[in-house]
Amino acid sequence: MRTRFAPSPTGPLHLGHAYSALVAHEMARAAGGRMLLRIEDIDRSRARAEWEIRIFEDLAWLGIRWPEPVMRQSSRLPAHERALTQLMRLGLLYPCRCRRRDIETAASAPQEGMPLLGPDGIVYPGTCRGRSMGERLAGGALRLDMARAMALIGGRIAFRESGPAQAGEHVADTDEMTETVGDVVLARRGMGTSYHLAVVVDDAAQGITHVVRGADLFEATRIHVLLQRLLALPTPVYHHHRLIRDENGRRLAKRDDARAIARYRAAGATPDDVRAMVGL
Ligand code: GLU
Repeated sequence: MRTRFAPSPTGPLHLGHAYSALVAHEMARAAGGRMLLRIEDIDRSRARAEWEIRIFEDLAWLGIRWPEPVMRQSSRLPAHERALTQLMRLGLLYPCRCRRRDIETAASAPQEGMPLLGPDGIVYPGTCRGRSMGERLAGGALRLDMARAMALIGGRIAFRESGPAQAGEHVADTDEMTETVGDVVLARRGMGTSYHLAVVVDDAAQGITHVVRGADLFEATRIHVLLQRLLALPTPVYHHHRLIRDENGRRLAKRDDARAIARYRAAGATPDDVRAMVGL
């Protein structure tokens, strides 16, 4: 068994991250496997080297160990680029010039009804779908043509979930994917890749058998499984765990540095105290 913890170095690790890393670490250890670490730093405008160093410190303090070298997503851009080329050759990508505002306007036009929300926000109304790859502006965004992609793999995706809330087999067909996910962005403007593409390519490169992460990413899993099918990569088992929430029931975010592991450490808490705080 190989699990992973894949934090983005854009702020302090908080109790939610501690929980995620501990669950992934313990799941692997219980099965005689390993937990790998991956630094998801493709968003160069937000990733900082100092956060990365603190991530290592916090995890080590929690008693978590991982094999070296640590994969850094920013060094994987050529692999992400190859995956994009593969999808492009299958005729599944098109360039998109829409800004967020354009998408909101198009999706809320009277004939469209209420805009549908998918894992990435508003389901893309398809404005640029007719564009050919030759129309891509340098560093421009690329979208996946969802209907074509689903047709190519036989109209159905499936994966196994082992997380407590939704354990079992999950499937989605073409209608569900086009209506509730739509044409997702696979290369972001100026970034050359997107979270969905990078996570799929890198999970496969690290040989991850069990993806352990928060329940907030459950809906995105269908996109990841579809990309695995298109790129002929294995589909791991998914394990989405509960989210750690604050006293108002909101899930923790990077801005919640009041719940940063480092703060608890500085205040004299032990790793066992942190485990107790997240219900372990
Ligand atoms: N890098 C993502 C985050 O910090 C996690 C991605 C994943 O686990 O698939 O939330």
